[in-house]
Amino acid sequence: MKLETLLNKKDFTKEELIFLLGLEGEDMDKLLKKALEVKLKEVGNTVYLRGLIEYSNRCTKNCLYCGVRIGNDKVERYTVSDEDVFECVDLAMKLGYGSIAIQSGERSDKAFTDKITYLLHEIKKRSDGKIGVTLSCGEQTEEVYKEWFEAGAHRYLLRIETSNKELYYKIHPNDDKHSFEKRLDAIYSLKNQGYQTGTGVMIGLPTQTIEDLANDLLFFKKLDVAMVGMGPFIPHDDTPLSIYRDSIISEQDRFDLTLKMVACLRLMMPRINMVAATANQTIDPKGREKIVQAGANIIMPNLTPTRFRENYLIYPNKACVGDKPDECKNCLDLRLAAVKHKIGYNEWGDSKAFFIKD
Ligand code: SAM
Ligand code: SF4
Repeated sequence: MKLETLLNKKDFTKEELIFLLGLEGEDMDKLLKKALEVKLKEVGNTVYLRGLIEYSNRCTKNCLYCGVRIGNDKVERYTVSDEDVFECVDLAMKLGYGSIAIQSGERSDKAFTDKITYLLHEIKKRSDGKIGVTLSCGEQTEEVYKEWFEAGAHRYLLRIETSNKELYYKIHPNDDKHSFEKRLDAIYSLKNQGYQTGTGVMIGLPTQTIEDLANDLLFFKKLDVAMVGMGPFIPHDDTPLSIYRDSIISEQDRFDLTLKMVACLRLMMPRINMVAATANQTIDPKGREKIVQAGANIIMPNLTPTRFRENYLIYPNKACVGDKPDECKNCLDLRLAAVKHKIGYNEWGDSKAFFIKD
């Protein structure tokens, strides 16, 4: 296959994507360079921020990779108080973040869903409707998604984790609570409700192949999602998948594959919002900037009160766990300026792909 011809395409076959994901050295650099060029042309050099609130680590699920799974009894469970959430919102406004993202373990009991509805109403009131809200609180019924949308959330991130159903059941318990079909239905439900819907996958999962990843990219395109957040799988000692620690591909390979996945997707879906996941920073100190240079345009600086963060370790050695929010803002300004990007302060930074269809 001729690389130069491929780099000017937007629609790829699975074989072409496998070829691109296998690039190394100078050829890989050419792919990343092209993706940056496409990003700058289509969405510019602005990176938008989503101040992350890790709202609660209480989870009813038992995903085999995640440090806050219900089966991990080493974790001290918490839920951030309403007052602390409002303080985070005030801080986001003060720092000019424009949007927040509320992420949590999955609960579908009414006390939880009502609480999120209440918080959304209050956040909208408190910020005079100025702050954008992304939710990432797992699978819910269409009614709950509707209620949250009406209360003010307008973006939702629900990773499919892998589009390979067989692999999905290798990384989740095989029961009704962890159904591939339900997860997929939930993504469709979010789209139906009018959310800017995001999904994503983990990269470098046990037994995952390059073909699986090529299929993931085709899956995102077929679903026509507005946002994607993908990042390397990082084994957590207190989870069942940690037994694969030595048999999965190396950290560097997982990171390089993430760069190539992001770059390919920018070519395929030029106007979507793509997150530079913090997990990349765990592998490479300049991980997030490198992912931004490969095509990502969203960063999620952590706003969670520091005393809770040690208990939201979905994977180990999470970057920036001890950073104070204002230090984090200054650090991001400098890091992004160093790679010729700027932060879109006080803007929602919605996905252009959601409004302008190709
Ligand atoms: N509970 C919600 C859900 O699962 O959609 C949202 C929170 S969950 C912690 C957010 C994401 O963390 C998951 O979608 C998963 O991709 C990622 N994650 C969990 N464990 C991970 C690990 N060991 N390595 C990398 N990412 C991980
Ligand atoms: Fe719970 Fe989400 Fe972790 Fe699964 S990935 S155990 S649903 S927090």
